Amino acid sequence: MAKIQMKNAIAELDGDEMTRVLWAVIKEKLLEPFVDLKTEYYDLGLKHRDDTDDKVTYESAAAIKRLGVGVKCATITSNAARVKEYNLKQLTPSPNGIIRGELDGTVFRAPIFVKNVQCNVTSWKKPIVLGRHAYGDVYKNCEIKTPCAGKAELVFTGEDGKEIRKTIMEMKGPGIIQGIHNLDKSIESFARCCFTYALDQKISVWLGTKDTISKTYDGNFKEIFQRVFDSEYKEKFDKAGLEYFYTLIDDAVARIMKSEGGMLWACKNYDGDVMSDMIASACGSLAMMTSVLVSPDGKYEYEASHGTVQKHYYRYQKGEKTSTNPVALIFAWTGALAKRAELDNTPELADFAKRLEKATLDTIEEGTMTGDLARLANPPAKEVVDSWQFIDKIAEKL
Ligand code: NAP
Ligand code: MG
Repeated sequence: MAKIQMKNAIAELDGDEMTRVLWAVIKEKLLEPFVDLKTEYYDLGLKHRDDTDDKVTYESAAAIKRLGVGVKCATITSNAARVKEYNLKQLTPSPNGIIRGELDGTVFRAPIFVKNVQCNVTSWKKPIVLGRHAYGDVYKNCEIKTPCAGKAELVFTGEDGKEIRKTIMEMKGPGIIQGIHNLDKSIESFARCCFTYALDQKISVWLGTKDTISKTYDGNFKEIFQRVFDSEYKEKFDKAGLEYFYTLIDDAVARIMKSEGGMLWACKNYDGDVMSDMIASACGSLAMMTSVLVSPDGKYEYEASHGTVQKHYYRYQKGEKTSTNPVALIFAWTGALAKRAELDNTPELADFAKRLEKATLDTIEEGTMTGDLARLANPPAKEVVDSWQFIDKIAEKL
């Protein structure tokens, strides 16, 4: 068979540990035999990031911006133990943080459904795509444990020197206070990322905040989303038969639990932190969660939600064939190839991405799966395999 041709390249960001091992197997067995892969390769393995003082990470982000599409393997975020383990020069910041900053992007996560791993929330028939605003609020807070009674005040000093001052509380005894902030520019970018990706996925957008209580702070989120929607997206949404739905956060949660899914749920930073873990756990395995970073102007980076699966890697180094689930990694590739195909108008490539996804899901639904899924499957797995056998099985189907 003649290999499927690609018009333009995608940025390929390699990573660490077990996911790096599987990355190479996926390319060799599932991609290269079928597609004449065109990628710009960046090695984001920890050692190479350290050797280049993170230059490679910035270059890979620039490549995603230039090419419009990237695919990324999981990477180690260094800490003291890793500095020792990899003999690093320095503690480097999270590569995901760097890339997200460079693209001014938002991360959307969604579970992959298979028939024989039931979601704990039985009403969910379609994946819920969760977008978390990853800037500010309690994650950049300032806190004081106040030792005695006193007056707590909120003070803003403008660059023009003008001061705004409000009393938070006349405190009758010791307690705690906290200051948080956000920026209009960041909220606007977040709104654009959500509406852009929802149009891409042809799904509606939900936003919930507590603006009845937090009239100014949460109210600002509500206002900005509405303004961005009305001025930039309403027409496109109408045309696509989609909607933007705002409701209070508690009402949003109650409705989501009873819904059949299939919406993009835009969450403030803390809500997104909590709710993304709830959705992941309700849907089974971390290895079945996809992740895509979307910039406000529509650049896409696809990856798996999980990390480098460090524990499996140490067993692999000792010679064990681990049963690590490669599904989210495979879907990162199919997501990127399908996006490339859409931008380049290459239907054969789009078709290949679909077939690879189907072959992967069919393999699981016919009863062949990795250990993480076998623990959840109903009816039970027919065959529990290691990653290499699983990938071979998919290749056979393909
Ligand atoms: P992890 O790699 O997500 O793995 C945590 C555990 O979840 C594993 O030990 C395994 O459980 C299970 N698991 C995750 N993915 C799996 C898969 N594909 N198949 C089967 N089981 C899977 O998280 P971590 O061990 O906390 O982090 C390891 C490294 O990844 C860290 O250095 C961290 O910085 C990095 N990380 C990177 C990213 C990213 O690049 N996007 C995201 C998160 C973490 P069992 O051991 O019980 O089998
Ligand atoms: Mg969380």
